This record gives sequence, structure tokens and C-alpha cells, in this order.
Amino acid sequence: MSDLSRPAGPRIIAVANQKGGVGKTTTAINLAAALVESGQRVLVVDLDPQGNASTGLGVDERELTTYELLVDDAPLNSVIQKTSIDGLSIVPATVDLSSADIELISNEKRSFLLHDALRQTAMDAYSWDYILIDCPPSLNLLTVNAMVAAHSVLVPLQSEFFALEGLSQLMLTIREVRQAANPNLRIEGIVLTMYDRRNNLSQQVEKDARDNLGDLVFETKIPRNVRVSEAPSFAMPVLNYDPNSLGAMAYRDLAAELMKKHNKIAA
Ligand code: ADP
Ligand code: MG
Repeated sequence: MSDLSRPAGPRIIAVANQKGGVGKTTTAINLAAALVESGQRVLVVDLDPQGNASTGLGVDERELTTYELLVDDAPLNSVIQKTSIDGLSIVPATVDLSSADIELISNEKRSFLLHDALRQTAMDAYSWDYILIDCPPSLNLLTVNAMVAAHSVLVPLQSEFFALEGLSQLMLTIREVRQAANPNLRIEGIVLTMYDRRNNLSQQVEKDARDNLGDLVFETKIPRNVRVSEAPSFAMPVLNYDPNSLGAMAYRDLAAELMKKHNKIAA
């Protein structure tokens, strides 16, 4: 019997913001881990040549990566690796990916490579619930590939000065991708990261974001929490490194909020 609450295929979400250091990778890893805790099957696609999501999830072997997937047409199932967390897999990345932009310049389908790769028939065998794409800190061809492949874009917004600057550029890119390639691309939401409730600036950023962006801003805020920043050096999500930390709890709340939107009930 088919389950009507489950859309056909996984929900594909690009985690994007062209600013570096705003919490994209942290959000991709920990949201993935929180979704898995709730019984979802999740694939993380590391689309940043820095490979931080891969390191943060404990990948050691990186022979077949997103580079091979996009540039060499490697089959999806050959580049997926299991992590030590049951239900959580990753397509890792290395610095090789940094030359993909240039190498793909004459490829007519260059913006659709990830889209096509994630829709291979072999995918059916995996029945992922979510695919989270960790984007690089730029609005380059890789990020465009993520937006063309995705159903929605999740935007981490650091609760710092100038946070909202650059957001209009990101929105413009989303509009361009909608016009050119992916008319149904939605904004999944904007999540405030590294929030410090004792800091007036954080509160001001939150107010500005909610005033300007309304319901697009998730209720859940991710607090600045040292356990979150320590976890990657232990090659695990904060949910596993320190399950009771404020950061872990916040990412669980974010996963619950996301799943509620998609009518998925936590297991
Ligand atoms: P991006 O992927 O956007 O470049 P990262 O997720 O790598 O950003 O985060 C940048 C830095 O901030 C990293 O060192 C990360 O550990 C740290 N960081 C991210 N979120 C938090 C948080 N909630 N609390 C404390 N440190 C954080
Ligand atoms: Mg990153």
C-alpha cells in the first residue's frame, strides 16, 4: 500500500548562503543527524570543496566523491558512503571539486548534473526521506547545481552584524534558478544560527529577520554553543558528541519543525 504522507522520492534541500562561516555545514550535519534520530533516512551531499561535512561525519576514505559524480558521471551508488550513524549516508567531497566549475564550462548540461545524478533510477533502491546538500560559500555553478536539483533552499543566517546583507543576492539567484530551470524551487526557511540571547545584536538580527521575512524564518533558533563547534573535531554531529547540549536540542527542534511542515511524524 502506498503511503500518501510520503512524497514520491526524497525531499531534497539545499543548505545555502554565499557567506562563509554562517553555519551551513553545521546545520547540514546536525539537521541530518536529528532527522535520522526521528527515524528518517538521510543522505548528505557534500558540495563544498573544503569537504567539512565529510570530515564532520567521520569520512576517511574519499576516492569516489561528488567530483566523480558530477564531472565523471560516476553512478550515484558508487559514491555513497555509510557513516557510523545508522540511516545516515554521505557523498563526500575533496578539494578536487574546486576545479569543477572550469572543467564543466563547455558542458551544456552543467547546471543539471546534480539534478540528473540524484534522479538515477538506482535511487529507488535507497528510499531516502531527505537529501541535504551542503553548498560552498559562493553562488557558483556548484550552488546552482544544488538549487536546480533541490525542492527547496534552507538558509542559515548568522545572528551577527550584516547578517541580512547578501540575502537579496541569494534571493535573486533563487529567482533566476526558478526562471531558468526549476520553477518549483521553494525557500524551505531561514534559520538563525549562533544565536546569543544575551547579546542585543542577536536580538536585533532576529527582529529584522522576522519583520522582513515573516514566516520564512524558523521558530527554532540555533544557539551559539561550544559543544557544537567541538563536535567536528571528534568527527561526529553534536547530537552524538553531546546529546544533551543546547546545540543538540536546538537541532532536534529544527528537525521537528521541518518534519511538521512536511507532515512527517517523528518515529
Ligand atoms: P559554513 O559552512 O557556513 O562555512 P560552518 O557550519 O562551518 O559554516 O560554521 C562556521 C564555524 O562556526 C565552525 O567553526 C563551526 O563549528 C562554528 N559554529 C557553527 N554553528 C555554531 C554554533 N551554533 N555554536 C558555536 N559554533 C558554531
Ligand atoms: Mg561549510
